[in-house]
Amino acid sequence: VLCAAAVLFAVAFGAGACASLRFGRAAAAPPARNVILLIGDGLGAAALTMARNYHLGAAGRMHIDELPATGSCTTYAVTEEDPRRPDYVADSAASATALATGRKTSNRRVATEVGTDAPLPTVLELAQRAGFRTGLVSTSTLADATPAAFASHIDYRWCHGPASMSACPKSSSMFGGPGSIVEQLVETRPDVLFGGGRALFAQPIPAGPHAGRTVAQAAVARGYRVIETAADIATLAPGAPALGLFAEDNFTPIWLPSLASFPAGPAERCRPAERPADQPTLVQMLEAALRLLSPGDSEGPGFFLMAEAAMIDKRAHSADACGQIGETVELDRAVAVARSFAEKNPGTLLIVVGDHDHTPQIVDPKYAAYVPGMTTTLATADGAPMTIAYATSYFGMSQQHTGTQLPVFAFGPDADEVIGLIDQTDIFRIMLQRLGLDDAAAGRGAK
Ligand SMILES: [Zn+2]
Repeated sequence: VLCAAAVLFAVAFGAGACASLRFGRAAAAPPARNVILLIGDGLGAAALTMARNYHLGAAGRMHIDELPATGSCTTYAVTEEDPRRPDYVADSAASATALATGRKTSNRRVATEVGTDAPLPTVLELAQRAGFRTGLVSTSTLADATPAAFASHIDYRWCHGPASMSACPKSSSMFGGPGSIVEQLVETRPDVLFGGGRALFAQPIPAGPHAGRTVAQAAVARGYRVIETAADIATLAPGAPALGLFAEDNFTPIWLPSLASFPAGPAERCRPAERPADQPTLVQMLEAALRLLSPGDSEGPGFFLMAEAAMIDKRAHSADACGQIGETVELDRAVAVARSFAEKNPGTLLIVVGDHDHTPQIVDPKYAAYVPGMTTTLATADGAPMTIAYATSYFGMSQQHTGTQLPVFAFGPDADEVIGLIDQTDIFRIMLQRLGLDDAAAGRGAK
């Protein structure tokens, strides 16, 4: 009604009156368009519920629960033999490809197309080409499938570094290819690369323009500042792109593992792990990334940032309930930081989502002895026992992903696009829409 009145006003007194009424100021540039995508690897509804029960109690509400727009997304991959057939249980490579490129692929592929091996353009690459700043943050090695799928393209997710290219000969720099995942990350050159995998970046590159250099040395040649400690990250000022390598491999989880057994032992409380003092947390990396990507010029080009709590999945593979919950609580702290940023920067869309579901189930403690798998019983914030079952694989073997749809949460402009049931590929489309890049992906289809 206000705006309709303003239209009449505008007809009488000139254009711009509607905009000035709606936004409270005339002729101001619109706020920078930003997208923050927070991924909890393996963050299904069960993982979220067990973290809430344990940490705050069943009636508690985490920061993630307070995000205003919620929906669900399907996560199936497709088969390598026939890309029209679903593969109901996705791995992190196919699911990250869906989020990063809007296209379904088969498990173990990183942003490449089934059948043709063609590289699929990612939201990070499209944003970068359009002048946005970009960043990738993870608590796993930077070569892990989730960060990899936003800035590299390879047929097999385990070709992490120059020393592991025997499974990906076509991509090897020895044969004129773009090289391993870490080589490609450096070549794509996001403004922020924070995570683990220092050992991979120490490997020498055998051929091509960076022959004889380690991957970290190639990064320096590409203009990167390379840092290695939490102290470095705290003092980093905006400027040249930053590569933070804070662990040899994956990060140390926040909490010590609980040991699932058969049958479960008495109810236990989780304990914090002694982490290396120089290893930042996900929250510290996120805060630094936001500072570097949004250096005070709120009317600048804006940015795309993906930050991942990677160890939720890895602790689930190990049937470690405390490990999972600690990482989920840390992700929730990151959600609070990202939301606070989005509140101060109104052009920012925050999306929080998992990439695939995982093993744990909250089961009735009275029947724990009958569960055909391992169980752990934790004493929650309610003072009640919570029994978690891990039964997607044998005792001692890695527990497996599952194919259930996932909750999605959003805050900011375009947040209501996640409401209802969507597919992970729609999240790519929603992010492009927020960045104003819908046209860049036009004609490529959503699936
Ligand atoms: Zn996994």
